[in-house]
Amino acid sequence: MTVLAPAVPAQVAPSRQVAVSVAGVTVVVPCPIWCTDPHAGNYVDLVDLSHNGDAIFLAAPSYRGAVERTLIARVSSRPFSGTPETERPFLVFDPIDDECAQLDSTAALALADQVIAHGHALRAMAASIAG
Ligand SMILES: [Zn+2]
Repeated sequence: MTVLAPAVPAQVAPSRQVAVSVAGVTVVVPCPIWCTDPHAGNYVDLVDLSHNGDAIFLAAPSYRGAVERTLIARVSSRPFSGTPETERPFLVFDPIDDECAQLDSTAALALADQVIAHGHALRAMAASIAG
């Protein structure tokens, strides 16, 4: 069993150690406390390993009473990707349960501000049609 550390030291703490299978070999890697991924699969290469937190979403009413998952977001990182943007935690944002964007903290905070502003506008619009 091999113990490996990610390239970005900030990801090491706070974390726990988890055993993962990479090409049939068990290795131990740090896993951040926000990660809820069971890491149960067999990774082909260590660069494929990703940590994933629980997703949040807005349940939005749709056609004929259906409810759609929108504004889906979760925290992820790929500590052995070799890409600085994904070695550290980033926000995965999927607006309509289709395609994802990877956002750093600055972009994610800007998005959150836009969603809040949209919520205020939506609330004002709803109030404008109140009987
Ligand atoms: Zn993990």
